[in-house]
Amino acid sequence: MNAIDALDNQIIRFHGVTKHFGETYALRDLTFEVRKNDFLFITGPSGAGKSTLIKLLYMGERISDGYAIIDGMNLSRIGRRQIPQLRRKIGVIFQDFKLIANRTVFQNVALVMEVAGFKSRSVIRQRVEDLLELVGLPHQADAYPPTLSGGEKQRAAVARAMVGKPRIILADEPTASLDPDASERVLQLLRAAHARGATVLITTHDTRLLSRFDARVIYLESGRRVDAPSAAGNVND
Ligand code: ADP
Repeated sequence: MNAIDALDNQIIRFHGVTKHFGETYALRDLTFEVRKNDFLFITGPSGAGKSTLIKLLYMGERISDGYAIIDGMNLSRIGRRQIPQLRRKIGVIFQDFKLIANRTVFQNVALVMEVAGFKSRSVIRQRVEDLLELVGLPHQADAYPPTLSGGEKQRAAVARAMVGKPRIILADEPTASLDPDASERVLQLLRAAHARGATVLITTHDTRLLSRFDARVIYLESGRRVDAPSAAGNVND
C-alpha cells in the first residue's frame, strides 16, 4: 500500500495528543491510527485514560495538545456548531447505558434519527424496528429502560448507537456491568456492527476479553501508550 492509499484508508489519526485536567494528565503524547473498518480494543488499568480517549473522540472533551483527525475532521478546528456533524459519524455505547429513563426503548432509539433530521415517521419506524430486531428486543419496544435487565439495556444502547449508520462505533467498557452471557451477546452485536462496515473501538480493563478476539489492541498506562501491559498494569480482578 502506498502512502496516499494508507492515508485514504485511515479514519482516525491521533498525533501527540495530550489531555490534562488542571494538574492531572489523563493522556500524554498519544499517537495512533485506526483504519476504516478496524475492530480495535483499548485497554489498561483503571485511570489509564481510556474513557478520556473516548470522550476526546466524540468531543465530550477538547484535546489540550497535539492533533486528532476523525474522518477528515480536525478536532482542534471544529467549532461548537460543527460538533453535531462530527457526532453523526459516531455511535457511542457507555458502561452505564445512558438511556433516557422516561422514554420507551423505541423512543430512545428513534430520537437519534429525529435529531439527525429524519422527518418521515415511517422511515424512522422501519429502521428502529429493524435495529430492535437485530439486537433481539422487538418485544421490549414499548418498555421503559428501568424495567429492563442490564443486558437488555445495553442491547438497546447498541441499537441506538447503530441506528444512524455511523461510520465509527465507540464502546466505553460496554460489558463491565454485565454478566458473562449478556457480555457475550453485546460483543457479538459489536461484531455485527463491524461486519456491516463500521469501525469499532472498545475500551476494557478486562484483559481476559482480549484473548478471545483476534483484534488489534492499544495498551494505555498512566495516560501513555505502551507496547504491552506491565505486571502492574494487569488488573483482572
Ligand atoms: P480510565 O477510563 O482508564 O479508568 P479515565 O480516562 O477515566 O481513565 O481517567 C484518566 C485520569 O484522568 C484519571 O487520573 C482521572 O482521575 C483523570 N480525570 C478524568 N476525567 C477527569 C476530569 N473531568 N477532571 C479531572 N480529572 C479527570
